[in-house]
Amino acid sequence: MPANADSPPPELSLYLHAPYCRARCRYCAFSSRPVAQAEMDGSGGMDAYVATLQDEIALWGQRLGASGPAPVSTVFFGGGTPSLLPPEGLIAILDALRRHFALAPGAEITMEANPESATPELLRAARSGGVNRLSLGVQSLDDTLLALLGRPHTAAEAARAVRDARGAGFENLSLDLIWGLPGQTPEHWLHTLRAALGLGPDHLSCYGLSLEPGTPLALAAADAHSGLPPLPGDEALERMYLDGGALLDAAGFEHYEISNHARPGRRCRHNLLCWQGRDYLGLGPAAVSTLRARTLCASALSSLPEPGTDTAPGAHDSGSLRWTNPEVPTQWAAAVRVGQIGPGHSSSREELSAQQLQQEGLMLGLRTCLGAPLNELAGHEELVRTLLERRLATTDGTRLCLTRAGMLLSSSIIEALVFE
Ligand code: SF4
Repeated sequence: MPANADSPPPELSLYLHAPYCRARCRYCAFSSRPVAQAEMDGSGGMDAYVATLQDEIALWGQRLGASGPAPVSTVFFGGGTPSLLPPEGLIAILDALRRHFALAPGAEITMEANPESATPELLRAARSGGVNRLSLGVQSLDDTLLALLGRPHTAAEAARAVRDARGAGFENLSLDLIWGLPGQTPEHWLHTLRAALGLGPDHLSCYGLSLEPGTPLALAAADAHSGLPPLPGDEALERMYLDGGALLDAAGFEHYEISNHARPGRRCRHNLLCWQGRDYLGLGPAAVSTLRARTLCASALSSLPEPGTDTAPGAHDSGSLRWTNPEVPTQWAAAVRVGQIGPGHSSSREELSAQQLQQEGLMLGLRTCLGAPLNELAGHEELVRTLLERRLATTDGTRLCLTRAGMLLSSSIIEALVFE
């Protein structure tokens, strides 16, 4: 399928997954493994990870750079715990990105960090290497709750990390918090939010606790004899969400996505682009990518002999391909070594049709303050009317946006509006 020579190459967002953590938090279902184990499991540990990631960056830079380095507008180091990277490893990765991709001037480069490993040395290296947004995993400012979650840091260490981040020159700082914790009351959550505001963040991500099956916290919650304090009930959760949001509004934050609040001009551009259906390329173990057919067709991949896949992604111009890299670091490294990484080598590869992408776009739009175009919700006029009457949504006549009360019910509203 020929690439359209007239259309500029689409700008990419890059996600780089760091697969290691100091220890596993009790609620975690993300893809990560203890870093101490990495030194013994034959993967070569952190140094091998850094080297392989640079190789994967080079591989994709070459594939997507057939007509010049592919333009990149945002980069996101997530994990796992990217702040466990050695400072010189982080610099090497950033250098590799600049060698193999065309980072746009002013590109947003975010790094997630945990307080216990966000050392002044690493923070200075990250900032001097071009990282310009830091997302710090604070989760709670109560040491009892932090211990209950299995977090390897205290509230004081989180405050120290914030000071060090500012000292290293980070002007764009986000804090991650979790609400709805065992034993937590709405008053306690509001107290946590006020304490977090006292740290002076530019952005707050506030996630409701999700008990993921099989995690130690979920097992404890299901065991009446575990001693875990009871989880807050629905009414308390509703108050936490609504009153917490109002508190952040009053502090000057914009509630721009179900779980995200930002000072004006400080929304996370990377996440917004991904939510708007832009191409993102995931690098590192377990990283997920979604690229439009036309991006892949413009790449060197279109000539790779990968049976039945890369030559005609999605089988039509308007679709996308989504795939996941091997999760186990040794398997990911082996795949990168022989160049067998990407949509043609992933058993998780999905072809997303234009209709699926449209549904996904509506769903993601409704999770944000951007909302969804009313004309794409045809057939749901009665439900839209009810949402407006019950103040679960607002409209400017062209788009439908959920209110905060609507966001609280977003799963069922989106299901009814988009998928029924
Ligand atoms: S630091 Fe994050 S990724 Fe690592 S175990 Fe804890 S929650 Fe999971």
